[in-house]
Amino acid sequence: MGSLAQLARRSLLTGLRAFSTAAEGKPAGGMCFELSPEQKEIKELARKFTREEIIPVAAEYDRTMEYPWPVIKKAWSLGLTNCTIPKHCGGVEMGCMDVCIISEEMAYGCSSMKTVIEGSSLGQAPLVLAGTKEQQKKFLGRLVEEPLIAAYCVTEPGTGSDVNGVKTRAEKKGDEYIINGEKMWITGGGEANWYFVLARTHSDPKCPAAKAFTGFIVERDTPGVTPGRKEINMGQRCSDTRGIKFEDVRVPKENVLLGEGAGFKIAMGAFDKTRPGVASGATGLAQRALDEATKYALERKTFGVPIAHHQAIAFMLADMAMNIETARLAWQMAAWQTDNGIRNSYMSSIAKAHAADMANKCVSDAVQIFGGVGFNSEYPVEKLMRDAKVYQIYEGTSQIQRLVISRHIIDAAKQKA
Ligand SMILES: Cc1cc2nc3c(=O)[nH]c(=O)nc-3n(C[C@H](O)[C@H](O)[C@H](O)COP(=O)(O)OP(=O)(O)OC[C@H]3O[C@@H](n4cnc5c(N)ncnc54)[C@H](O)[C@@H]3O)c2cc1C
Repeated sequence: MGSLAQLARRSLLTGLRAFSTAAEGKPAGGMCFELSPEQKEIKELARKFTREEIIPVAAEYDRTMEYPWPVIKKAWSLGLTNCTIPKHCGGVEMGCMDVCIISEEMAYGCSSMKTVIEGSSLGQAPLVLAGTKEQQKKFLGRLVEEPLIAAYCVTEPGTGSDVNGVKTRAEKKGDEYIINGEKMWITGGGEANWYFVLARTHSDPKCPAAKAFTGFIVERDTPGVTPGRKEINMGQRCSDTRGIKFEDVRVPKENVLLGEGAGFKIAMGAFDKTRPGVASGATGLAQRALDEATKYALERKTFGVPIAHHQAIAFMLADMAMNIETARLAWQMAAWQTDNGIRNSYMSSIAKAHAADMANKCVSDAVQIFGGVGFNSEYPVEKLMRDAKVYQIYEGTSQIQRLVISRHIIDAAKQKA
């Protein structure tokens, strides 16, 4: 397999073909849903990797719940991880569209392994978004040189959706900050080399979120950092999810991102970049459910015909396809906006919520089409159903996406009035 770095060097990898013909800084007009030749190659590389390296081992990693380091290392050697790291750090600096194409392919094989890779990208996103060149070179450059991962630490035992409730504190003492607090549900928490950590730096509890928090890069091996046990989750079981304690953790002021008080904006801004990738992952998982269900529906016979010939089953397949195609269009739109510098919170939330919800409907229907064996762990759709659920929870629940979408609609209506 050729590496992605070779591909990336050959072209600017942004957007679907017509979209990427834009004059510098301006989105192109018109519509074209064809991938560029480079994007077709990226898709083919990711698909081949998924078929050869992910699908054959996915069920076993689900059973053992071991962290899939051998798969990550192979993906890293081909440039299928760390795709948004800037070129000045040795990265390929891909666009969101290209990353989403890879995500969809990998999630088709195993969304748990895709989450392992995506969790690291989420950890990197604040640094890509707001890091200085020196900070980026130091922490992102390391991930290009070695197969290491990063993690994003915002959620706490007492707060998830309501980020304003973050209690982890950072106090400035001389040239350092001292961090105390606890994070929860951190993807890659026990395996990461460094963390993005959101902590409260303003002492007034009434201080607005936009000024109250600061984003830090914290080295894993700093004294006082203690990851907890690996959580045993319903699905995506080879991904590493942990709580992390921070007790008198000393962080140099050089590790502050953008400046004191900018943390909330950075942490939320990262989601605009990563939610299209979560949506494309859910789309890949749903596509797998459709493919497995279609194959089975053509093999399994009842009342003398393949069950695919019963309209009730055929229509379930049609509904799955309708949902998958529209979810794909939605993440492509959100990714295109990201690549063209257009504020995309609204479209990213639509893409993420729609893909997560429809993926859960698709896997449930796939299990139904499989009948009794759908409920059995020796058939692939049972794992798909367990893996799908978390798409409605992490990186903002489906309810929180609706909050973002409805606020956007209401604000726009108020402005018109
Ligand atoms: C496997 C996994 C991996 C994760 N990885 C990470 C990670 O890497 N980094 C990280 O920081 N976090 C991570 N998370 C945390 C995840 O982002 C949170 O679980 C999520 O944001 C929800 O927060 P919560 O669990 O505290 O639920 P809560 O916020 O307590 O919500 C509970 C329920 O109430 C609903 N709800 C809450 N507020 C509202 C409202 N205003 N209106 C309507 N409904 C509402 C929610 O939608 C949900 O259904 C991960 C979680 C899981 C399960």
